[in-house]
Amino acid sequence: METLTHCPNCRSSLNGGFFSSNTLMSEEMSKAINYFTENKAEAHCRNCSDKLVEEVKQIGNFRFPQLQADLAAALPLIPVISLQQPQGWNYTIIGMVTAQTVTGTGVLTEIASGWSDLLGATSARMGSKLKQGENDCFNQLRYQAATLGANAVIGTDIDYAEVGTMKGMLMVCMAGTAVRLQDLSVLGTTACHKLKNLKEVIAELDILRGLNLVE
Ligand SMILES: [Zn+2]
Repeated sequence: METLTHCPNCRSSLNGGFFSSNTLMSEEMSKAINYFTENKAEAHCRNCSDKLVEEVKQIGNFRFPQLQADLAAALPLIPVISLQQPQGWNYTIIGMVTAQTVTGTGVLTEIASGWSDLLGATSARMGSKLKQGENDCFNQLRYQAATLGANAVIGTDIDYAEVGTMKGMLMVCMAGTAVRLQDLSVLGTTACHKLKNLKEVIAELDILRGLNLVE
């Protein structure tokens, strides 16, 4: 954008003279104003934005918890599967998604000391740590896929690696291909309904996070 001499919204001059200190609002704020209010000017200055900023804040504070709830409800419905070509699915390939988590210390020492008790408490604990790592990875993949406008992850591959000098930690790595299904109804009615607007939910959350109005 070329340097503006006047505010596109109210025509006030910008840094026009020695006594003028009027400046434009951030791009993020103008984006939010465009999104949440009726005002569609390409930029806004400090002179004209007080009311608009207030409006954005009010809508944002109201919308944010709702958007987060929508996101939390929709994400688990994004399938992450190992199949390369699920039957009956027609999709567009969006791109690769990857995830890594490192699960707590002492996993492998626990395994080593726990061989005699493999089906007992030790292995149960180890299993739950691994499960936690896997679940974190699944959710990372889902979130990335959703951000890209995809609604499923196929061909997912899982790897486990020891990390750290004491080999006390276990890393779970996953990679898959994010795809956008042509017909969401293959996932069932609930998923179909909740995933339909997920991209918009994430876009709206990003606008609000960009403003740091809501935490
Ligand atoms: Zn202005």
